[in-house]
Amino acid sequence: MMTPIKMDKRTQKVKLCVIFFFFIRFVQSYKTNVIIKTQKSLFGIVSIFPEFCRLVNFLERIICYKIMAEKIKCLIIGSGPAGYTAAIYASRAGLQPIMYQGGQPGGQLTTTTEVDNFPGYPHGVDGPAMMQDLENQAKRFGTDVRFGLATKVDFSSQPKKVWIDDTTELEADAVIIATGASAKWLGLEGETTFNGLGVSACAVCDGFFYRNQTVAVVGAGDTAAEEASYLANLCEKVHMIVRRDEMRASLIMQERVKKNPKIEIHWNSETEEILGDANGVTGIRLKNNQTGKTEEIALTGFFVAIGHQPNTSIFKGQLDMDTQEYLITEKGSSRTNIEGVFACGDVQDSIYRQAVTAAGSGCMAALDAERWLAAKGLH
Ligand SMILES: Cc1cc2nc3c(=O)[nH]c(=O)nc-3n(C[C@H](O)[C@H](O)[C@H](O)COP(=O)(O)OP(=O)(O)OC[C@H]3O[C@@H](n4cnc5c(N)ncnc54)[C@H](O)[C@@H]3O)c2cc1C
Repeated sequence: MMTPIKMDKRTQKVKLCVIFFFFIRFVQSYKTNVIIKTQKSLFGIVSIFPEFCRLVNFLERIICYKIMAEKIKCLIIGSGPAGYTAAIYASRAGLQPIMYQGGQPGGQLTTTTEVDNFPGYPHGVDGPAMMQDLENQAKRFGTDVRFGLATKVDFSSQPKKVWIDDTTELEADAVIIATGASAKWLGLEGETTFNGLGVSACAVCDGFFYRNQTVAVVGAGDTAAEEASYLANLCEKVHMIVRRDEMRASLIMQERVKKNPKIEIHWNSETEEILGDANGVTGIRLKNNQTGKTEEIALTGFFVAIGHQPNTSIFKGQLDMDTQEYLITEKGSSRTNIEGVFACGDVQDSIYRQAVTAAGSGCMAALDAERWLAAKGLH
């Protein structure tokens, strides 16, 4: 004869809770409106057993977050100017957006002390302060801003699936991608020591601070050539550091750089060290990789222009990308190749890469998402 398995009190309670939870969910799937009242009244009845209620809540949270996907109308991935602007527009349009901030809440601008060119700040603004303003504005309209990194996506079905920190599964009707891009660096110690004190990866952002001074630009592509030409209009002298004996930039850009009397090109040259003191960069030590000869150049600004890496690895194989792995959006819109997935900001912009252009495209993404959801009857 089989002996019945004896359950202790705690196991019995857990079992009861699970049955109770699934009963609630069962009713919910048939009568969404009634359930809220049902849940409320049921909770009312059992509220005389506080321990029981706490257990139910605890289990519900675990089951909801670990087993069942959270359902979202509009998910925003990334919290730079593009993500926050999308959040402001989406929340004001009633899309109840949820934003996951990623590993760098506030995005790239949180690494700079001075933003002088974002409209609305006549005296300039500290990068982190500006991003806090954007966050506050998005929250004011109800955006649910959360910590967490999107680690996996599955856009093959509707709703779209996104996993946060490899554990939490979300199902979103529309997804706005605003994961930005990161500047590539040479790996020199001075790049960290003097970041914001003479070292920059953006001539358009920081060139103004080096007017009538001597600066260097590292790189040999179109971006480096453009940054050197841009800086030559502001600075006294621009040293262009090129690793090989030729440039990758288009012929027209090369010609422009070579003809500019303010630009001196150092061929076959690599930066050995960024020199400086407590006030910032004072110079660089260059090494000719053919002759081994070194020389020191006095300058105050060091611009690294060797490219950016868009943060798109988790979208590979699902969203169309260009050769540099930037997301491709339809011309004049934020639509990607997958319906209901929109991209904005630096993650889809290899050309302008400015806070204001990122913010502008964030607005486009929210409007595109809102119109798409409405057309599909999801909003
Ligand atoms: C030092 C510096 C100074 C600059 N100065 C200026 C300036 O003065 N003026 C100007 O106009 N521009 C400036 N820029 C450029 C400007 O910062 C960018 O153009 C702008 O931040 C791009 O905004 P974004 O929203 O597209 O992306 P980002 O600002 O790059 O933000 C990307 C966001 O996505 C998040 N994210 C990434 N991957 C994931 C993921 N898997 N899951 C969830 N979240 C994720 C990150 O945590 C981050 O919050 C500067 C850039 C730098 C680096």
